[in-house]
Amino acid sequence: MASYDEVGVGDSVLLNEISTASFVENIRIRFNNGRIYTYIGEVCVSINPYTSVKLYGPDYVQQYKGREIFERPPHIFAIADAAYKAMKRRGRDSCIVISGESGSGKTEASKIIMKYIAAVTNVAGQSEIERVKNVLLKSNSVLEAFGNAKTNRNDNSSRFGKYMDINFDFKGDPIGGHIENYLLEKSRVVLQQKGERNFHAFYQLLAGASDSDLSKMKLKRDVSKYHFVNQGGSPRVDSISDKADYKAVISAFGILGFSPATIDSIWRTVAAILHLGNLEFVQDGDALKIKNKELTRIIADLLTVKEEEVVRALVGRVIAARGEVMDKSHTKIEAEQAKNAFAKAIYERLFSTIVSHVNTAIQVRDEEQSSRYRYMTVIGVLDIYGFEVFERNSFEQFCINYCNEKLQQLFIELVLKQEQEEYLREGIEWQKIDYFNNQIICDLVEQNHQGIIAILDEGCLNVGKITDELCLEAMENKLKTHKHFTTRKLSPSDKELKHVEEFRVKHYAGDVIYNIKGFLEKNKDSLFQDFKRLMYSSSDPMVSGMWPEGATSITATTKRPLTAGTLFKNSMVSLVKTLASKEPYYVRCIKPNEQKSPVIFDVERVTHQVNYLGLVENVRVRRAGFSHRQPYDRFLRRYKMISQYTWPNFHGGSDMQGTKILMEEQGFSQDVKYGKTKIFIRSPQTLFALEEGRARLL
Ligand code: ADP
Ligand code: MG
Repeated sequence: MASYDEVGVGDSVLLNEISTASFVENIRIRFNNGRIYTYIGEVCVSINPYTSVKLYGPDYVQQYKGREIFERPPHIFAIADAAYKAMKRRGRDSCIVISGESGSGKTEASKIIMKYIAAVTNVAGQSEIERVKNVLLKSNSVLEAFGNAKTNRNDNSSRFGKYMDINFDFKGDPIGGHIENYLLEKSRVVLQQKGERNFHAFYQLLAGASDSDLSKMKLKRDVSKYHFVNQGGSPRVDSISDKADYKAVISAFGILGFSPATIDSIWRTVAAILHLGNLEFVQDGDALKIKNKELTRIIADLLTVKEEEVVRALVGRVIAARGEVMDKSHTKIEAEQAKNAFAKAIYERLFSTIVSHVNTAIQVRDEEQSSRYRYMTVIGVLDIYGFEVFERNSFEQFCINYCNEKLQQLFIELVLKQEQEEYLREGIEWQKIDYFNNQIICDLVEQNHQGIIAILDEGCLNVGKITDELCLEAMENKLKTHKHFTTRKLSPSDKELKHVEEFRVKHYAGDVIYNIKGFLEKNKDSLFQDFKRLMYSSSDPMVSGMWPEGATSITATTKRPLTAGTLFKNSMVSLVKTLASKEPYYVRCIKPNEQKSPVIFDVERVTHQVNYLGLVENVRVRRAGFSHRQPYDRFLRRYKMISQYTWPNFHGGSDMQGTKILMEEQGFSQDVKYGKTKIFIRSPQTLFALEEGRARLL
């Protein structure tokens, strides 16, 4: 074993001292030596190398294939292999949860995992399985085109959460999959911060489509002509070729089996949004008019709806009161807001439609299902937004951080529960350790009647009467005794909160101050029915199919749609349920610096993330029980050379007896427990000593 100073330790459980500083120092040393992966037991910590590393070739696949996690240097392949083995050998569904902040390498990690699985399966080379693998891999490029954008933190930032199931047959070969998407950041469609861009698809269309296609859509190649794609002031990104990416997306569409008509509808919808962004209103006496009339014709053609209907939906709305139906004109400001809400809604539904088309392409085919269904197992891969704290935090950060609370809750439950179950199974006594249980924060957000989402929903029942500020007051009243919620400065070191505007949630990962402005609007997430009817009237079945509610008549009383907050909460509850039914593996991603540099390790930034991810707590939990465990046969095979009684082979009985004799001879008996099938080693030093003994003899 190389010395500690050179490359650090591969498993943080083996650190001499457990502290945030020593944890960070260890991963710093490793990062500086090109070792981007480090374990905490079976959790893989990954640091974004920001350069292409040669760690994923066929030689590496061979090194990790079928091996145990501790046998080889830390690697994400080992995690993928462990999840795969759990599934294949034991028939257990497994899942890999990838977390970390934006730009830390989550999406790359999920792709590396998928490629590994593709590399180790279908040894028989069946063409149908090859097709499935290809389709699964290609789904990424479509989802990234429509769901990713250039942000200041990441040139290819996923602006949605993604959970992907891969289905396997009884031989362990992939036969299909399914994708669930969460909360697309649709505000980006109409507004981007300085230095950022809209979703890639807009730029790809403008850069990649042929001249004749562009002219059919009445588009000019020049990005600067379109308001919706220009606000960040940086439509070009060095690391991105929109033109080449457009080609790749077109090819992926083909491989996924999207029909030419569907592909055409998708790009026409994107084009319609670009034109919509340029549309301006003018007040003309009492009437509101559209300044650039030519655009409504183009938009109507692209969406295959009637032009006069487009105009009507944009300048006003139809209201029904006491059975009477009448037109009400928008003010200029209302019209602009409604237009933006419309653009966002079109894009959001387009994205969901694309995801469901991808799902159709990757779903397990009927014939596979009938013959192999009973043997089918699943590996789920979750690539979802990490904890977010900005200068100003709004509803989106609130949802994202709640999502992280839920995942942390799951982590606590599963990791600790699993430990306990294993000790029980193996007949081992152990000491329970205390940890912070964040259930109380999940409750704060999601509880019926009392929770923040419930209070927001109540406010949304009465928009108009209830303002964001009143809603905050209601929270204050209901939650003033809650330990994790405040609206005021509580101690001299606290930040002063802007009263009636801000509230603070003490998250497990740290305090976040949210600004209530806009919460109600974003939670209500409403769109005038006029737009829904307009879209439903489209003669393009893909477009009209996205807007089924457009079928309801204006006078019909309809059920209030669920709010964005409640929908998100429901999707989180169901996600957690899905994950909890599987054997979990974790990849925790860390971003080494803000400059996207392969050589800078910013200790302060990393420390921050290590805290947020609760990694040191994770090491402690792991160490409090038994830091290491191994089945007897494997243990003996690895260490038998250390003892004269077991080298070259042990003849005096079972592997368990051999293990006992070896450990007694080495003087380690006090530090271990013998389970039914495994040896449990308490302190990492013992394992360290065994490893050193082994290394001396090799
Ligand atoms: P996240 O999904 O966490 O926001 P990404 O996975 O998109 O982050 O990673 C951001 C960028 O970092 C990638 O576009 C790539 O340039 C780089 N990167 C991340 N992981 C790796 C890796 N394992 N090897 C090389 N580059 C990586
Ligand atoms: Mg991502």
